[in-house]
Amino acid sequence: MTDRYAVIGNPIGHSKSPLIHSAFAQATGQDIEYTAIEGPLDGFKATVEAFIAAGGRGMNVTIPFKLQAFEIATDPMESARLAGAVNALKFEGGRIHAQNFDGLGLVNDIQRNLGVSLAGKRVLICGAGGATRGAILPIAMQKPALIAIANRTADKAHGLKRDFAAHATLQTGGYDELVGERFDVVLNATSTGLSQADLPLAASAFAPGALAYELVYGKGLTPFLKQAQAAGVTRIADGVGMLVEQAAEAFEWWRGVRPDTQPVIARFTVPLV
Ligand code: NDP
Repeated sequence: MTDRYAVIGNPIGHSKSPLIHSAFAQATGQDIEYTAIEGPLDGFKATVEAFIAAGGRGMNVTIPFKLQAFEIATDPMESARLAGAVNALKFEGGRIHAQNFDGLGLVNDIQRNLGVSLAGKRVLICGAGGATRGAILPIAMQKPALIAIANRTADKAHGLKRDFAAHATLQTGGYDELVGERFDVVLNATSTGLSQADLPLAASAFAPGALAYELVYGKGLTPFLKQAQAAGVTRIADGVGMLVEQAAEAFEWWRGVRPDTQPVIARFTVPLV
């Protein structure tokens, strides 16, 4: 029998998840159906329950339901607990298991696909929202020399330092506090890639040979990537690999089979020009 999966969000028309998971299923010979569900803003829980009742086995969760998904989980894994947000659910024996694979997808993309080891590196994360929250633990596990978090609202970055104190030593503050600091890996986890706003980031923040990584995908050269290029950075990437890698983690969690991500990343890559 065909097993049912879905991504739920609102809006959901933009989601690439159905195409990604269908490609994985085809390549691995898994008999699944994966659809997109636009959840009503006031009806997330009821929509998930109806999907489970209809035989649904798992779901990806996207904006704006990642926090509500955490609330309905009976068995949140550590990745979800620390992020306070969920991007994948598995329904099994009346239980709702929850994971957040975004951070792991990011780390896998940086290390496996881009070939940049995070161990011993000075890492700067710009932004202190949900994506940063999900990324801290997977990055910390690679033992970088430093994880600094800069945010427009500095207090939000300081909040992360407190929340993650047991798991990672974070240097947090506003962009103005980065003066004179250099980083080997600079991640843009703000939404400026969507709004096309500039970050108040000095050119000197990029160490020689640095990787500049924009989490937003499919937008070509975002203001952050342009800033990095203007600072002399030649290793740039956007978040398409992160998107596909987090999907691969969910697929393996649900199906027990690891899909090859390379052909799917190639299919969705938009040139950075
Ligand atoms: P949130 O809304 O939780 O956080 C947004 C962050 O952007 C905040 O830190 C906010 O700062 C900052 N910000 C917004 N506008 C500006 C600005 N003009 N100048 C400086 N900082 C600004 O978003 P998420 O953390 O969920 O997502 C961040 C980005 O990552 C999104 O654009 C999303 O598309 C991308 N993403 C990509 C994924 C992938 O698979 N590739 C997965 C998940 C996310 P402040 O606190 O001061 O408001």
